[in-house]
Amino acid sequence: MHLNTKPLHELLDLINKREIHPREVIADLYRAIAERENYIRAYISLAPQERLLEEAERLRDKPLRGLPIAVKDNISTREFKTTCASRFLESFQPVFDATVVHRLKAAGATILGKTNLDEFAMGSSGENSAFFPTRNPHDLERVPGGSSGGSAAAVAAHEAICALGSDTGGSIRQPAAFCGIVGLKPTYGLISRYGLVAFASSLDQIGPMTKDVRDCALLLNYIAGRDPHDSTSVERPCADYTQELGQEIKGFRVGLPKEYVADLSGPAKACVESWEKHLRALGAEIVELSLPHTKYAIPAYYLISSSEASANLARFDGVRYTKRASNDSVEAMFSESRDKGFGPEVKRRIMIGTYALSAGYYEAWYGKAQRVRALIREDFASAFKRVDMILSPTSPTPAFKLGERVSDPLAMYLSDIFTVPASLAGLPAISIPGGTVDGLPFGLQLIADQFQEARLLRAAYALEQEIKS
Ligand code: GLN
Repeated sequence: MHLNTKPLHELLDLINKREIHPREVIADLYRAIAERENYIRAYISLAPQERLLEEAERLRDKPLRGLPIAVKDNISTREFKTTCASRFLESFQPVFDATVVHRLKAAGATILGKTNLDEFAMGSSGENSAFFPTRNPHDLERVPGGSSGGSAAAVAAHEAICALGSDTGGSIRQPAAFCGIVGLKPTYGLISRYGLVAFASSLDQIGPMTKDVRDCALLLNYIAGRDPHDSTSVERPCADYTQELGQEIKGFRVGLPKEYVADLSGPAKACVESWEKHLRALGAEIVELSLPHTKYAIPAYYLISSSEASANLARFDGVRYTKRASNDSVEAMFSESRDKGFGPEVKRRIMIGTYALSAGYYEAWYGKAQRVRALIREDFASAFKRVDMILSPTSPTPAFKLGERVSDPLAMYLSDIFTVPASLAGLPAISIPGGTVDGLPFGLQLIADQFQEARLLRAAYALEQEIKS
């Protein structure tokens, strides 16, 4: 029956009705992994099937029934190494579970494996993994997107039911778009980041990557909420995020930013027009908007995220966490460990960030980027006085070819143009499958105001049903 192709909520229903047993789901998943993992290469580590079968037995009375979930390999897990796809952490074994992992396990989930990513989550294609690139299940010559490319490819290839990713400037949404699945970046502060290896702390968020919108809402129910271990997580009564699914969106005002769509042409433009049509059919109103500071979002993002990365990654010095490259002197230990441990993109970010933060340049670079960030936030604040939701493609193009942008970091950075603004403003945004461009999945992004996840999911669900039908 290929149970591995079904979304989590359907599997839970079938298990609750005693029509299937979690064992059968696990067996189907491992069958798919045995068939496809050789060429997809979504996983850095995998749990032994025997262990998951035993755990499923033990957890059968808990809400998630012992079903396995894939986790991006920059999220701490006690039973797997957590490598961040970096040589530096190749053999790093955490001693604790991240809060999200802890919560999922407490609800009866197990961890299927740890998925590949761009090293330390820096990248948009998965090709910056120090170990191997992951391939897009829709076209093996193409990238799955990044940085959560392994999670997206695992779900799309049905080598996982659902997965967790992390998103700093688009790393959940863009790979979800490239692989034709659903990915949600929640409001900054909704989900604990305790146990997520920090890239850029003012932007990083963990979120679900799933086969459909309902699964996204379901997973969010388990992982959202205040955690005393993460002071940036907020105290808010947690809604049931599935509650509004299926309610109509008649009268919703959906903004279409002219800066986001001005340069689209051909099939991408046709996709956006078809989304407008679907929204109108659902009774929503399309409102033309302007987000005038969009063009500064990419430079501001790369300055801020690299500055924070240069500070966060200072902890990797050869003393803790990992192998030491030299014992000659303290300085040699630091510099050789860092030289051998980090790949080229990580070094590039550390250099950009260290430069932007250094005395004499701080105001001109980092300070200015922070002021631009404030303007971008204000763009959204005034937009949300007029609309409930903002619509755009998730990425300007579908998945590109492996190797195509590796030698041109700027072209790689520019592919984040639609995802980065919501990250800078801390807003929730979701990518759902929005049709195809050149035969490849093309993602539709919806952005909502802070903590409006329930409404965002309601609109995404309505569109998902409309697009499918
Ligand atoms: N592609 C973006 C970058 O390289 C976003 C990465 C992310 O969200 N982790 O920084």
